[in-house]
Amino acid sequence: MASITLDRLGKTYAGGTQAVAGVSLDIADGEFVVLVGPSGCGKSTLLRMIAGLETVTDGTVRIGARVVNDLEPAERDIAMVFQTYALYPHMSVRQNLAYGLQNRRMDKAEIARRVDQAAAMLEIGAYLDRKPRQLSGGQRQRVAMGRAIVREPAAFLFDEPLSNLDAKLRITMRGEIRTLQRRLGTTSVYVTHDQVEAMTLADRLVVLNKGCVEQIGAPLDIYRRP
Ligand code: ADP
Ligand code: ADP
Repeated sequence: MASITLDRLGKTYAGGTQAVAGVSLDIADGEFVVLVGPSGCGKSTLLRMIAGLETVTDGTVRIGARVVNDLEPAERDIAMVFQTYALYPHMSVRQNLAYGLQNRRMDKAEIARRVDQAAAMLEIGAYLDRKPRQLSGGQRQRVAMGRAIVREPAAFLFDEPLSNLDAKLRITMRGEIRTLQRRLGTTSVYVTHDQVEAMTLADRLVVLNKGCVEQIGAPLDIYRRP
């Protein structure tokens, strides 16, 4: 686990668009922070800079004590969960879960332990030998979560992970994400444009507007205001 510290973080794209304009934010160890705001306000760019998928043009990203601006995504000790799952279609669920760990040359017994533990937590143990195409949307998103969990990262980054699911499943899955995060105690940054999702999940909400922090606080404090 680790804190995440953003110090006057900014991003100006090559074309001149300033997507993120000097965001400073201290995310505590174990905290669940949700970024909300209208389309185009910079949520995705901010998250991708923390992940290392987008270069930083101003300021710093710190994970734990380390400035990670110049580190590759794989060196940052984070795991990202995407809206489109990003599973390997030709691999079984078990292989999808194990793949990232095999790349790290982790011991086989340790890989098996982590895969079994994540499968039990997410209740996907019955599907381990299936391919992603043989799963429902909700099952696929559980596998995507499992792939993040087995890494035992310092932080989870979620990019609208529930947006592809139907309304009923979204409600079920957001409860599951919160329960899992509490159980694991892993620092999380979660991007959504859904206010109810944001309210339900967040320890602290960050409302972005035009690349800047417009409001920040506990969900009830923010949505109670006129
Ligand atoms: P959100 O996730 O809140 O919808 P984004 O971070 O995707 O916002 O986008 C913020 C702003 O940056 C928008 O004006 C968008 O058009 C622009 N933008 C995003 N990605 C790029 C890119 N790769 N190149 C140029 N402009 C971009
Ligand atoms: P999201 O809902 O995650 O913000 P978008 O549909 O806005 O996704 O963008 C999808 C991809 O296109 C992202 O990788 C984003 O960086 C990129 N993108 C968004 N806006 C622009 C833009 N104006 N120019 C170039 N790329 C963009």
